[in-house]
Amino acid sequence: MFSDYHCHTNLCGHASGEMEDYIAAARLKGLQELGFSDHLPMYWLPESERNPGLAMSEQELPFYVAKVIKLREENNDLSIKLGIEADYIPGNNTALNRLLALYPFDYVLGSVHFVNGWAVDNPANKNEYEHINLDEIYAAYFSCLQSAARSGLFNIMAHPDLIKKFGYRPKSDLTFLYEQTARIIAKANVCIEVNTAGLRYPAREIYPSLELLRLFKKYGVPATVGSDAHLPEQVGEDWEEAALYLKEAGYREVAAFSGRRLTMVKI
Ligand SMILES: [Zn+2]
Ligand SMILES: [Zn+2]
Repeated sequence: MFSDYHCHTNLCGHASGEMEDYIAAARLKGLQELGFSDHLPMYWLPESERNPGLAMSEQELPFYVAKVIKLREENNDLSIKLGIEADYIPGNNTALNRLLALYPFDYVLGSVHFVNGWAVDNPANKNEYEHINLDEIYAAYFSCLQSAARSGLFNIMAHPDLIKKFGYRPKSDLTFLYEQTARIIAKANVCIEVNTAGLRYPAREIYPSLELLRLFKKYGVPATVGSDAHLPEQVGEDWEEAALYLKEAGYREVAAFSGRRLTMVKI
């Protein structure tokens, strides 16, 4: 199954291209399934503090949903999914749940982009990695990812080791943290995403690392594949590499979603 479950659109304020452009790119590359998963409005902040360069507004959300549904009906040669990428911000589960329940999403990607209010993947914060304690930030990041999985709000944990984006890695052994994370995600019945965007950044590695992916496999955590496309030409990017990587970790199937229900399909 050649699918991409992680695509943005120009609605989020930092991606380019209309949905139609992403669909055209998917068709050109021969994808069978394309899932839109643009950034959910910043529900944890008052509207006046939300950054239009990070996510769509709450007024835009119904238009996003309606447009994906309309395009799904108009493009029968491609399976188009209505997804969304939602930030996990501790203490705001009720607000998130309320917003997600309003729309018929096929799946919800859960992302940890903020740890204690600090944006882990924002290029403006890159230099701070030089000064912070990497063991502590990794532990805090994975603890947040574990809570997100346990929240029951998400179907798929996106880019599970996003914290490595800028190539900063602690010297200590991460096996315990990884194993604990894989066990918790498995117990929470949540999938993980194999996200090829890590190859575009200094991490120079798919999210998650092969070591972590093997542990997800060991504990029976299903996976989806996503490019995290913010440009139409990034749709399906490095998909072959992701498929090989999944096989190397022991996977033979990937997860697909409809109406938030999971089915497994051959890679
Ligand atoms: Zn984005
Ligand atoms: Zn993300």
